[in-house]
Amino acid sequence: MPETGGTVVGRFAPSPTGAMHLGNARTALLAWLHSRAGGGRHLLRFEDLDTSRVRAWAYDVTRRDLEWLGLDWNEEYLQSERLDVYADALGRLDTYPCTCTRREVLAAIEDSAGAPHGEEPVYPGTCRGVPFHPGRPAAVRWRVPAITVCVHDALREWTLCQCLSNEVGDLVLRRNDGVYAYHLAVVVDDALMGVTDVVRGEDLWTATPRQVALQKALGYPALTYRHLPLMKDFEGQRLAKRNGAPGVRDLRESSRTAGGVVAALARSLGWDVPDEITPHDLIPFWRAWCGAPISVAGTQT
Ligand code: GLU
Repeated sequence: MPETGGTVVGRFAPSPTGAMHLGNARTALLAWLHSRAGGGRHLLRFEDLDTSRVRAWAYDVTRRDLEWLGLDWNEEYLQSERLDVYADALGRLDTYPCTCTRREVLAAIEDSAGAPHGEEPVYPGTCRGVPFHPGRPAAVRWRVPAITVCVHDALREWTLCQCLSNEVGDLVLRRNDGVYAYHLAVVVDDALMGVTDVVRGEDLWTATPRQVALQKALGYPALTYRHLPLMKDFEGQRLAKRNGAPGVRDLRESSRTAGGVVAALARSLGWDVPDEITPHDLIPFWRAWCGAPISVAGTQT
């Protein structure tokens, strides 16, 4: 096992909703490379709060896929076992119960002057300060502060500023079925687990300002973010479990070698590697890639 005396603490945080595909594997590989290149600790965190989407077999298959690829971890966590810490954090925020249905919220958005214009509808504060419908299950919304939050990506050199109250609206932090929201759980966990560096897919980049706002509201330390290009298929579509993207398990159970799969993942980033390689031997490639402007075929810009 690599030394873990460094100050970096990283994590891979899969949702156990199905088999890992090659895109997940590439994210897992790069997150591991970042932790280990910094001589740091690496965590595996299963993000399994939405139990309706969890597949019980996916935990073990994910662990085996990671081990087969040569990716190890120092600690493992399941979010489903940490509900108390999310309840605690929620109790420290300025929240209110919201019993509006999705339809009521959408109708209010249409009625309001700020009809949806951006990528996501802005919650107009329908339940703020008004008595909610007793008897209906209530979600819990966070009264977002009227501040602009700017975030930086250390890999891509991106900056994104968002005024949460105008561009996002009050966030649901616990759904009306009791499930804690991903944004809350991820922020609480990264802080309490001592994570310093987040390496994850770029689909989560636009969620970063709201997560940083939550971090600040809860008094947690700032993190360094690196958002990775998503892997595309031959038609330029993002790989996804639901589209039947090739699974790591299938490759593991076929005649492919782990070294060959790791090499293919590295080559998909334009790294000039031999046909077979171990994750450990990719550490210098990761260091060089992080230090240079990113250019990857099929990368979203
Ligand atoms: N669980 C999320 C996913 O599978 C990743 C969350 C994160 O890295 O912040 O996409």
